[in-house]
Amino acid sequence: MGTAQHTPAKHPARPKNTATTKQKLERLGLVSAPDLILHLPLRYEDETEIMPISSLRPGRAAQIEGVVIRSDASYQPRRQLTAILQDDTGEIGLRWLTFYPNQQQQMQVGRRWRVRGEVRGGLHGYEIIHPKVTVADSPLPAALTPVYPTTDGLSQPSLRKAIGQALEQVELTDTLDAALVKRLGLQSFCEAIRTLHAPTPEMDAHALLEHTHPSWLRIKFDELLAQQLSLAAARDARRSLRSKVLPANSTPDSLCARLLQSLPFSLTPAQQRVSAEISADLQREFPMYRLLQGDVGSGKTVVAALAALQAIDAGVQVALMAPTEILAEQHFQKLKIWFEPLGIEVCWLTGSITPKARKLANEAISTGRARLVVGTQALIQDTVEFFDLGLVIVDEQHRFGVAQRLSLSKKGEEPDATTTRTTTRFDAESKVQTLANAQRTTGKPSENRDWIPHQLTMSATPIPRTLAMTFYADLEVSSIDTLPPGRTPVVTKLISNVRREEVLGHVAQACATGQQVYWVCPLVQESETLDLQTAVDTHLALSQALPDYTVGLVHGQLPTAEKAAVMKAFREAQINVLVSTTVIEVGVDVPNASLMIIEHAERFGLAQLHQLRGRVGRGVAKSVCVLLYQTPLSMLARQRLRAMYETQDGFEIAQRDLDLRGPGELLGSRQSGVSLLRFADLATDSALVVAARETATELRATSPHIVERHLARWMRGREDYLRS
Ligand code: ADP
Ligand code: MG
Repeated sequence: MGTAQHTPAKHPARPKNTATTKQKLERLGLVSAPDLILHLPLRYEDETEIMPISSLRPGRAAQIEGVVIRSDASYQPRRQLTAILQDDTGEIGLRWLTFYPNQQQQMQVGRRWRVRGEVRGGLHGYEIIHPKVTVADSPLPAALTPVYPTTDGLSQPSLRKAIGQALEQVELTDTLDAALVKRLGLQSFCEAIRTLHAPTPEMDAHALLEHTHPSWLRIKFDELLAQQLSLAAARDARRSLRSKVLPANSTPDSLCARLLQSLPFSLTPAQQRVSAEISADLQREFPMYRLLQGDVGSGKTVVAALAALQAIDAGVQVALMAPTEILAEQHFQKLKIWFEPLGIEVCWLTGSITPKARKLANEAISTGRARLVVGTQALIQDTVEFFDLGLVIVDEQHRFGVAQRLSLSKKGEEPDATTTRTTTRFDAESKVQTLANAQRTTGKPSENRDWIPHQLTMSATPIPRTLAMTFYADLEVSSIDTLPPGRTPVVTKLISNVRREEVLGHVAQACATGQQVYWVCPLVQESETLDLQTAVDTHLALSQALPDYTVGLVHGQLPTAEKAAVMKAFREAQINVLVSTTVIEVGVDVPNASLMIIEHAERFGLAQLHQLRGRVGRGVAKSVCVLLYQTPLSMLARQRLRAMYETQDGFEIAQRDLDLRGPGELLGSRQSGVSLLRFADLATDSALVVAARETATELRATSPHIVERHLARWMRGREDYLRS
């Protein structure tokens, strides 16, 4: 905490901790008695018996009683108080490194005390440092002593006292019917709460600590049930909002039919199914809130295009937002080719277009002439006014990539993977909300002031099942679960950096057969400039190593026009090898690229590697992804690389990512700083999640009063949970 402490003169005397117990409890979110009973112990201390001194072992907690047979306060060389305590079986040392005069008095020879603390092996036999000292021969508790999560200045005894009082005040009635509790094989709420606050010494200590004890199962079930119920309520709330009904035009000359006719392929059954799901949503009078998930290359763009066409056919504007300019540009190019022959004006808007172009774009958007607007976050700036926005599509594949980098750097457990770049996270969810709100306030057509756009979000990083059932349970999910035909699986090779020359040989070979290659540069710790430098260096080295071929370079700091030019050249096969920073991570679609080299693959997250690998294997040629790594590998890096080697299934990858990193990081923006689940653990409690989900559906259909009662108990002070 810095040097300031060495100049005490500047510091006012430390303010006395004047907060009352009540205020301190409030800091923990414990306002009323019902809050207190749900404040559950982290662990327990066994103070139910007195142990003979001869039975003590180092590293273990001890509770003993004995007589002080020696006591010694010294001030040189160091201030300390030592004492020897004796019982019928032996002696043990006690030691204080700082002490008050009254403690010295306590330790007068001949007095008898009960003493608790952790036993350590000392120079002269076992000892306890800073033991807790209480009156000897007082009655022993029958239950284990709970240790609660607490806050600065709030002692365990005062917390215990407050909770003990609450337990006497609050009636621990079950929110659920006895029959249901029995059917679910759960403990009663009352028994669970009483047990967890005061378990007896015979209970399974391990199960209590690991949250696998039946009492914990009941509490975790209740918590998950509350989560399910509140998410369902949030969904209901959204259904009370109004959106414009966008009927599907089923005539043969509808925009959708005409696009389908113009495509060189037909939709896969999976694409047809999700298209139908989206189409049905658009015809409802409340806003669609749907996630379209499908692995990289599964063909989400055409599904989004069909949704856009249904909306445009029904007479509203559509906005499509992407997290990066490269991706937005690619969507723009592709959709322009598809839409313009249908007579639809597609407009392009990003932060980097000239003021003049922006003015033109704004004009096309606000008069309603532009029916589809493609762009980046710039779309949601105040200056953009839509004429009649009816559908917002967000391609947010990038989200996990960046969120992951940020959270990794926060975590700091794997410094090789961290970067403190200040990329603002593309928080699609809040962006869509802003857009929806803007529409509500500035929507031009006066008679339509109060409808908000439908929302479709696309993600290539599938949500693992348990997360989908919990934190995302309020959105509808459509999944494209099969890839279009004609794809060949990507062969993944793990190659150590020392065999770089060999890899260069593969690259030259691929170029010789007319294939194209991505060479992805590593994430460099802490610095975007270094990232860039590495890419520039690599570009130079590869250009020299491959004199017969064109080596291109693309990175995030390139001006938009140049970026677009490089990508165009690569698409048109004028560039053989494209050196790139991770800007190509999302969405780039060049079917002729069949070899990808990822340098320092150990620095990337799993989802990111999967995204990158998805850039190859899009054409008919056999594709290879080389993960070049630098030894030594951390345990986590090793597991990630192994996962990449073992599977290509995005769902499987997502599940492993969840297992490796836990839900917090995958949730990204959804978590909004609060850990929503205090007790349940999605990695281990999926069976409880399923049960809670089924019960929630059942209760909502049959017993609204129970729903209300349960939410009242569990959602106190957590109104943020009910986002609308
Ligand atoms: P992603 O889901 O990753 O966004 P894209 O929409 O970019 O995938 O599609 C990947 C490639 O597959 C594109 O070249 C697209 O034109 C092509 N594609 C999409 N659907 C089909 C299909 N049903 N049959 C053949 N190719 C398809
Ligand atoms: Mg895409």
